[in-house]
Amino acid sequence: MNMDVLVSLCKRRGFIFQSSEIYGGTGSCWDYGPLGVELKHNVKRVWWRDFVQRRADMVGLDASILMHPTVWKASGHVDSFTDPMVDCRECKRRFRADQVDDMPWVHYCEATKGNKFTIAAGEPCKHCGARRTLCPECGKGQLTAPRQFNLMFKTFMGPVEEEASLTYLRPETAQGIFVNFDNVLQATRRKLPFGIAQIGKAFRNEITPGNFIFRTREFEQMEIEYFVNPHDTIEGRPADEYLHDVWIEQCKAWFTGYGVSSDHLRLHQHPDAELAHYSKRTVDILYQFPMGWSELMGIANRTDFDLKQHAKFSGKSLTWFDEERKEHVVPFVLEPSAGVDRALLAFLLDAYREEEVRNEKRVVLRFHPELAPVKIAVLPLLKKRSEIVARGHELRDRLARRWTTVYDDTAAIGRLYRRQDEVGTPYCLTVDVKTVGDAEKGEAGDGKVTIRERDSMEQIRVPIDAVDTVFGRLLDAGASWADVAREFPRAEG
Ligand code: ATP
Repeated sequence: MNMDVLVSLCKRRGFIFQSSEIYGGTGSCWDYGPLGVELKHNVKRVWWRDFVQRRADMVGLDASILMHPTVWKASGHVDSFTDPMVDCRECKRRFRADQVDDMPWVHYCEATKGNKFTIAAGEPCKHCGARRTLCPECGKGQLTAPRQFNLMFKTFMGPVEEEASLTYLRPETAQGIFVNFDNVLQATRRKLPFGIAQIGKAFRNEITPGNFIFRTREFEQMEIEYFVNPHDTIEGRPADEYLHDVWIEQCKAWFTGYGVSSDHLRLHQHPDAELAHYSKRTVDILYQFPMGWSELMGIANRTDFDLKQHAKFSGKSLTWFDEERKEHVVPFVLEPSAGVDRALLAFLLDAYREEEVRNEKRVVLRFHPELAPVKIAVLPLLKKRSEIVARGHELRDRLARRWTTVYDDTAAIGRLYRRQDEVGTPYCLTVDVKTVGDAEKGEAGDGKVTIRERDSMEQIRVPIDAVDTVFGRLLDAGASWADVAREFPRAEG
């Protein structure tokens, strides 16, 4: 799937806009439009419901974005949350040191009287055999030696911009959970293992943002810190190692459960040499994005690193009392950490289909109904018949109390269906002449409407009184279309 096609659909239909576009846009920031905000809300809502509300071993938290600056010293972010960067002395462009060799490079070749060539990453020049030593973009400047660049956004708390009031926009939501570990423990009397979840904004001054909403400087995370007693064992294995594998499977199953094909997901375990300073083992779930397999989310075993660091820097004990063993333990922490925006991008990419229907191209987003921004579209077949329009509005108002429902009469029915397919609306409901009848001709209506399903494009004829029950079964009780549809007569397409 081509990312440009998706970016253009997202703009055209109001999912995602470039931030501050009328001013030329800001680097790597995006705004969610009317449909995007519904989709994003649904991603967060089902995640929260599945991982927090439905589980007995999870609670939630919403910590502030601005925190005490010592948090970031204790966590290691002030010292280690850096990327090694090199700068071009000519054009002043900046690159990640570990990525320059993976870029195509510009070369002015002496052997061909200084002609300019763009050469594939890692390849030598065919004419002179030279390899890249200069800036890959301008081909002229020397690159500086690598320098560490901190990815945290700095800001000042209070009226005076001085060192003492310096703080940071959080680069991850995790630390808000660690510093509240004892508060949550005291308030909820939890026993290990248990987890704390948080959804919220995070900020990173990424050097190479890009690929639409894949890597941005402002994004949202859905994170869980799951606290485990390191002395426990499950099936003969240390509990943290056993539960780490359980979390990896549960996270993967969550994505496939909402429509991501398992063929597009893959696990990647970080080699020991590349593990973050806090991690005993980290496994990423990769997704096959248009630019290649890339991290969708990470699941790290952070050991007792964070709680010990915060105990050291704050002087407060961050332990749990094990009644059975009569000892204080510092729990190990498993961290499933997902980006809301990256998850949303994967759901969009996986839902996108181009199909041929009656010799015409149909674009359809096959969203899981739980994620679809709009669940039902009410469409009148004839706009000029006031009874049809009135009945349509009445149905929209009634259904909108339970499900996101829109009314649209701005085009002919075929086009209205296509528009809903393109934004992934699972069901359309049509009010037509048969529904309301024709009083002038003395014809009574049959009081039935047509319900059309997005993927099969099948249509059934349903009495208005049964509409709420039908949608309740389809959208709330998880009934399949096939099961519901067989109870009603088919309507002609
Ligand atoms: P990457 O290697 O892609 O930079 P990371 O390993 O630094 O990611 P984590 O710190 O593990 O990422 O963050 C957890 C999750 O948060 C990521 O898997 C991703 O879904 C999301 N995320 C991280 N950075 C960004 C970003 N700049 N833009 C959008 N989402 C992000």
